[in-house]
Amino acid sequence: MNPWEDERSLLLRLQEFNQTACDYSTDLTVVKWLENTAETSGTQPAVYEGNEMYTYSSLNCDANKLAYTLLERGIGAGSIVAVMMNRSYTMLVCIYGILKAGAAYLPLDPNCPPSRLMKILADSSAALVLLKDEASTPAPGLPGVDTITVESLGLDLYPDTNPDTRAQQSDLAYLIYTSGSTGDPKGVLVEHGSLVNRIEWMQRAFPISSNDVLFQKTVYTFDVSVWELVWWTLTGASVVLLPSGRENDPRRFVKLIEQHGISVIHFVPSVLRLFLEYIEGDFDLERLSSLRYVFCSGEALSAELVSRFYSIFPPGHEVKLINLYGPTEATIDVSYYLCKRDQGVQPVPIGKPIDNTRFYILGEDLSLTPIGETGQLYVSGIGLARGYLNSPLLTHSRFVLNPYEPGERMYRTGDLAYWNECGEVVYIGREDDQVKLRGLRIELGEIENCLMSCDQVRNAVVGVHVTGSGDQILTAYIVGGSGSEPELQKSLQSELARELPEYAIPTRIIRVDEIPLKPNGKADRSLLFSNQKVTTVQR
Ligand code: AMP
Repeated sequence: MNPWEDERSLLLRLQEFNQTACDYSTDLTVVKWLENTAETSGTQPAVYEGNEMYTYSSLNCDANKLAYTLLERGIGAGSIVAVMMNRSYTMLVCIYGILKAGAAYLPLDPNCPPSRLMKILADSSAALVLLKDEASTPAPGLPGVDTITVESLGLDLYPDTNPDTRAQQSDLAYLIYTSGSTGDPKGVLVEHGSLVNRIEWMQRAFPISSNDVLFQKTVYTFDVSVWELVWWTLTGASVVLLPSGRENDPRRFVKLIEQHGISVIHFVPSVLRLFLEYIEGDFDLERLSSLRYVFCSGEALSAELVSRFYSIFPPGHEVKLINLYGPTEATIDVSYYLCKRDQGVQPVPIGKPIDNTRFYILGEDLSLTPIGETGQLYVSGIGLARGYLNSPLLTHSRFVLNPYEPGERMYRTGDLAYWNECGEVVYIGREDDQVKLRGLRIELGEIENCLMSCDQVRNAVVGVHVTGSGDQILTAYIVGGSGSEPELQKSLQSELARELPEYAIPTRIIRVDEIPLKPNGKADRSLLFSNQKVTTVQR
């Protein structure tokens, strides 16, 4: 066959794999779902927090009041409002109140070092930071930032009716910061239309009803949390809030699943592993009989974990395990794969693109790679974020023109992948120095930059060692410093803690005389991290 024929038939196959066009609501935002359910089923339980239950009507009314307080302050469409609090009913009231005012929410981790918070707040120009109350949020030490506690807003003085403000689908819904390789976090701007499409896809693919109970257990600074915060409002289902700080506590998961009959849950694979270890063996599976959908995402799901899952939940058990994949820059998830009982030892695909989403696996010259051949994964479609806040250059380098669909953009994920014959995508690893630790995204360059800004450090390379038992250990090799290694490690860790979130602080800091270099002058990571392949391709 001549090469043009080859190219043409490949294009046709890929078009077939990318047939995802589907109608979705283009005239509303997620706020409408809450308002509709509050109107039709106001007394239906919406939120469970500890021993408290809040109905749809109370959530909607409280969010309305909050929206009016924001509107009164001149906050509305185009504004960004930060929320800094632990997972709670008040957090939900704030998020929905901000969206109802037409603004976008920016979630902030109260445990994040103040200097990092200050960078994020300066970059975002957030109009206001909402705190829960004086007692539960220690004074964060944010000079010059307009903070206010919800407690002090006097919500009861405001009307509880739905405000008239309506964000458009092209308005921002949220701004989430992720690790940036230059040393500063970068803000991803996500619009309402992308979010509506993502949630409506999920409802079509894995329908839930008012009988379902979701689990909100993901920290809200990571975008997986967004579907946990929103999906249930679409059908009048309920959500259970995991107490903050319990994100790796399988015992607590089981307790809440049993107590509330939770049917939908999400895990990053490494936490799924902890969960399965906890429920393996002498465990009464009846306690988990309510589970219907177990979603995994954030890092690679291994075939071994899938078979372990299905050996615990024997045939006849209704529960489904689904592998979702996606970067924050394309609105939570862009592909899905329903894991099979007889998955075998083959890699678990990240699956097929979701509705109104197209995948391109391309070579360096942006040419299509044949089926079965590895290339870089690009994503196109409605889910693409607007870009990075205040970073036009970075935005243009990651969101590029799509040569296969004139006028469309595509997002360069940095993930390496290939198409299999069934039109599913298989993830291979990263092409850069981004890693995942328990699903948390870290640019190694961010930590290296931070280390190199410490006076004693002349050079630094950071990577992940994987132990025999599969644990990941974030490790830094540094040149410079004095004193004993344990003392040096301690002092550098506390210096880093002023800039970086806890999960990005290397557990081990090792001093070396020099960093080995490759012929091109770059650090030879493979000599330092002999298991480097395994660390970027999560198991
Ligand atoms: P984040 O923006 O934090 O959601 O991180 C996105 C990155 O996480 C992706 O570009 C992948 O490298 C990785 N990732 C997310 N989901 C999966 C998955 N199911 N399998 C493999 N890698 C994943």
